[in-house]
Amino acid sequence: MRKPYMGKILMVDLSDQTMIPESIPDRVYEDYLSGMGLGAYILYNRMPAGADPLGPENILGFCSGFLTGTGSLFSGRWTLVGKSPLTGTWGDANCGGTFSPAIKHSGYDAIFFKGISPGPVYLYIKNGKATLKDAADLWGRDATETEEFLKQQYGPKAAVAVIGPSGEQLSLISGVCSDRGRIAARSGLGAVMGAKKLKAVVLDGVYRIGAADPAAMKKLSRQCLKWVNFPLPLPGKMMASVGTLLRVSPLVFPQDGLLYTSILRKWGTGGMNQTSIEWGDSPLKNWDGSNRDFPMKKSRTLNPDLIKKTEIVKYHCYSCPLGCGGICSSKGKQTHVHKPEYESILALSGLCMNEDLDSVYYLNELLNRAGMDTISAGATAAFAIECYEKGILTREDTDGLELTWGNTEAIVTLIKKMIKREGIGDLLADETKAAAKKIGKGSMEFAIQAGGQEPAMHDGRNDPGFNVHYCLEPTPGRHTLGAHLYYEMFQLWKRVKGLPKPSPLYTKGSKYKVNREKAQAAAACSKFMSLANGAGMCMFGLFIGSKRVPTFDWLNAASGWTLTPEEYMTIGERIQTLKQAFNIKHGIEPRDNFISSRALGKPPQKEGANKGRFVDVEKLAPDYWEQFGWDRTSGKPEEETLQRLKIK
Ligand code: SF4
Repeated sequence: MRKPYMGKILMVDLSDQTMIPESIPDRVYEDYLSGMGLGAYILYNRMPAGADPLGPENILGFCSGFLTGTGSLFSGRWTLVGKSPLTGTWGDANCGGTFSPAIKHSGYDAIFFKGISPGPVYLYIKNGKATLKDAADLWGRDATETEEFLKQQYGPKAAVAVIGPSGEQLSLISGVCSDRGRIAARSGLGAVMGAKKLKAVVLDGVYRIGAADPAAMKKLSRQCLKWVNFPLPLPGKMMASVGTLLRVSPLVFPQDGLLYTSILRKWGTGGMNQTSIEWGDSPLKNWDGSNRDFPMKKSRTLNPDLIKKTEIVKYHCYSCPLGCGGICSSKGKQTHVHKPEYESILALSGLCMNEDLDSVYYLNELLNRAGMDTISAGATAAFAIECYEKGILTREDTDGLELTWGNTEAIVTLIKKMIKREGIGDLLADETKAAAKKIGKGSMEFAIQAGGQEPAMHDGRNDPGFNVHYCLEPTPGRHTLGAHLYYEMFQLWKRVKGLPKPSPLYTKGSKYKVNREKAQAAAACSKFMSLANGAGMCMFGLFIGSKRVPTFDWLNAASGWTLTPEEYMTIGERIQTLKQAFNIKHGIEPRDNFISSRALGKPPQKEGANKGRFVDVEKLAPDYWEQFGWDRTSGKPEEETLQRLKIK
């Protein structure tokens, strides 16, 4: 029977330049899948407590998904894992494109690096045979340029993951790029790669991945495919009004993800730009503004149809029929650029009150090439603008920049300085919390972050579920593990016994009530997304709903196992608990990572979509932690939980 995994990892020690393939027992895949799960298993067991994130003891892993290459859909994401230098906690970031299958084609499920190389190197693997090569000539080049150079050297089929200058300069908001500018951006893991003096990983192999029951895989994928082509009944000009309707309506019904995925298919994530601003989902003006500060006459420059007009060609990640990506033309210096994602657009526009879409395209490409996280870069610029407005930073501090809201030229110059670590940019290149610590003068109030990580462009005052996950996840500030809205779209209650079904119509105010059902729903999202990250699945595909996207059935058909959805959710719970146990082992107090007060609604906003909203995470935390068998007060996994989940 063919297995969906290679059963092997590569452990590279950059200090002594050894590369050792290791077999991984089947029981590890049965307990953790691969992807983030395998990464958590290796890092928890092998990294000493208190390891310096930028030191030799940190382990950085490139992990492919369990389902990658098995014939399932939406399963081409790879996960980068390591101890985060940004938050000091468990760190991970994931990315689509073509790198996940390339890891398996090279003969491994994951490649891990420890130690620090004496000089810049890159790793090349050809059909399982690994070599470390000198990268002195590549150091200092941007990520896309380096990737193109390496593809010329090893052929167009070689897959490349690479850091840009931001990772080399140890910016704590740097990530790792692949597929010419896509980026695994969160947790600052590009700096870990830079500290290890590892410029790139180049993979070229022809190993194939199997599935225990290929016919069943095919049948499941065919059945799923019919949901992908659900037509979108709305034109672009209506998208802002949809947001207005959602804002003014006192009653809400559970949202079906089919609508969202049809928006993705047509426009990409930017299809939601104006809807999110109107509705109150997008934070504006460094989380202090509202839809009133950025009304339709300003946000119309971000209309999805305008973005669509610039699209030259759509692209899909490996095994994804949705294809939310695109290559666009830009009026800036670069002509062909990646279509910016919703998160990047809003961080570089609404959060800084910048109405200029061309500058967003330009900065997005610049940041992708530098290997810097667009969310954190935009958030840090917004923080600096507010500090300037309040007189905390002066023109002298900003190298003469008139750092005012919506000043496009100043924002572009500031972010360029952050990339180069030049002048004020050096102070800001490590994110808002680190900058506020140095600036002082009460600036911490304007650094909107959780444990040092800037949250994504989803306001937890509008969807309290976001605030639960921003505050309580082992990766603080994370928006991709759950939300009130995600629970509705995943429709997990249709497959997993015992989960609450949302009522068909409810008041907006009821979202803010603290009760056991909310905790159950939030924990179910985290377990499910941890499972999905082990499988290498894209969250956007999962929004189509758990009955239409057969995640549990694909896992059984690929592996030959006969687990129930509830048993798969236990695998997700185990991965989630292991990440929390990693944090505890490294001395993290979960309560220290709560998001800044402003983002919780303290003080509450005086106008706009989120007027008066406050999310009491202190009250929500005990019930959420209890769902995993973690202590209600401290958030630490209980001894009996660790034993039940076979972590000890
Ligand atoms: S939905 Fe978009 S991000 Fe997700 S796998 Fe498909 S193309 Fe990639």
